[in-house]
Amino acid sequence: QRLANGLPRNVKECSSATQSLHESSRVRAPSGQNGTVRILLVEDDRSIAESVVEGLVANAFVVTHVSTGGEALAAADHDLILLDLGLPDMDGRDVCRQLRKRTKAPIIMLTARGEEVDRIVGLEMGADDYLVKPFSPRELMARIKAVFRRVTDGSKAALQGEVLRFPGVTINAAGRTVEADGRPVELTAKEFDLLHFLAAHAGQVF
Ligand code: CA
Repeated sequence: QRLANGLPRNVKECSSATQSLHESSRVRAPSGQNGTVRILLVEDDRSIAESVVEGLVANAFVVTHVSTGGEALAAADHDLILLDLGLPDMDGRDVCRQLRKRTKAPIIMLTARGEEVDRIVGLEMGADDYLVKPFSPRELMARIKAVFRRVTDGSKAALQGEVLRFPGVTINAAGRTVEADGRPVELTAKEFDLLHFLAAHAGQVF
């Protein structure tokens, strides 16, 4: 059991539930992730937490669930953190800043509709993305995969320097990803090739 000492009962309940569901679902982690991908879920709303855990486990992630900021800061290292903005003991923003000081793991903020979290605030506090509740398991998976891909491609692209930047749009040739206003855009291979070709020849007439 790799949980930090002193974590509350619900953590253990949650991870044992995770364990049994994990064994019954033989789904592989997203490509590019070797071995087990450990996700820390920080969420005080029980029903949201349950559905998120269920979705993650069905996708072969190993989940640790805690419900306060204090527990999040006491938890062991994870590969990705899903962090509720409205926590009972601390402001999610402060939790995010503190986590960011000691981990490079991507952080996705979970926010309620109407909460003021714009892109800038998110970036200032060190979050990689945010998701507005309610969200479907499918949306959550897409966001998690996009964040992992961005982290991986970001380091590849930084090495290779193959990034085309336009106002509001970034095209990463090495990772074959496109972002518009900081969010990933899903393109087919053909669409990407066409966009990349045109972007690489900006200003030319064909
Ligand atoms: Ca909450």
